Amino acid sequence: MEIKNVTVFGSGVLGAQIAFQTAFHGYTVTLFDIREDLLEDAKIKFEQFKLLYQQDINADAADLDAAVSRISFTTDLSLSVKDADLTIEAIPESIEIKKDFYNRLGAVAPAKTIFCTNSSTLLPSQFATETGRPERFLALHFANYLWKNNVAEIMGHAGTDPEIFKEIVQFAKTIGMVTVPIYKEQPGYVMNSLLVPWLMAGLDLYRNGVADAQSIDKTWMKTMGADLGPMAMGDLVGMSTAYNVTQSYYQGTGEEVWKERMDFLKANFIDKNKFGISTGEGFYKYPNPAYKNEDFLK
Ligand code: NAD
Repeated sequence: MEIKNVTVFGSGVLGAQIAFQTAFHGYTVTLFDIREDLLEDAKIKFEQFKLLYQQDINADAADLDAAVSRISFTTDLSLSVKDADLTIEAIPESIEIKKDFYNRLGAVAPAKTIFCTNSSTLLPSQFATETGRPERFLALHFANYLWKNNVAEIMGHAGTDPEIFKEIVQFAKTIGMVTVPIYKEQPGYVMNSLLVPWLMAGLDLYRNGVADAQSIDKTWMKTMGADLGPMAMGDLVGMSTAYNVTQSYYQGTGEEVWKERMDFLKANFIDKNKFGISTGEGFYKYPNPAYKNEDFLK
């Protein structure tokens, strides 16, 4: 099936980016959200994206205007999918909200429509039944700032049709993504399966008093030839995200170590308004963190 019309659900952080990137690559896009004012906010974001695309990937101004002209907006769910070949859902990361949403979507979408979720922590199998079309449902996961962090992870569940999986890998390529096909359901996909343990290893060394933040980062940077260590990366990701991750792993696994990490982040960072780069302090102080000093690795 040729994909032409794409509907994106949720015009928040990721939904607005997915809609813009997809339209930028020539698709006709419909953006759905639950309120008009949210869609108005998305239009403002698109103006900001135009500048960022020019700055970061040298995009052409006329192509950016054309991208916006290919996007339409609606708060009417049935209308939003009337002729959709593909939908990409980027609504809040809550199993209840997603289940409810897919129950309603499955009832109004045409039979041909493929459903993708951009969920970061939930698995497609957790709400495949609610879609009413499990064989046409899978995850297509993007990263924040997707026009430059252009990696898409594609992950089905056991009931996803392999042909649909291939089609979505192909689609992701056509919108400028480097694709990561994932052959088995994996919480955190490939990226967070690598990143989260690394960040947590750094955090554990720090909170257990094994080494200070700078020594942990120096060790990694010097030996791996990397620009950042896990503590600096923690500041970049931000403490609220780090806290949410520990909370969701605690809820998912029930393992006590996640609760200890969660409590540590809350007491030492969240409650002290040290959210990382966004508030000027985390493991380092900004705007001139020590790890950026010329002599940091000497
Ligand atoms: P967000 O809160 O910025 O946006 C969510 C949007 O969904 C909002 O515009 C909201 O109005 C809308 N919404 C709320 N309830 C809805 C409903 N019932 N039906 C339709 N729309 C509804 O969230 P986000 O950060 O863009 O995350 C969205 C999804 O993308 C989540 O599943 C998240 O895990 C995933 N994701 C986020 C990031 C990130 O860096 N923020 C990265 C990758 C994946």
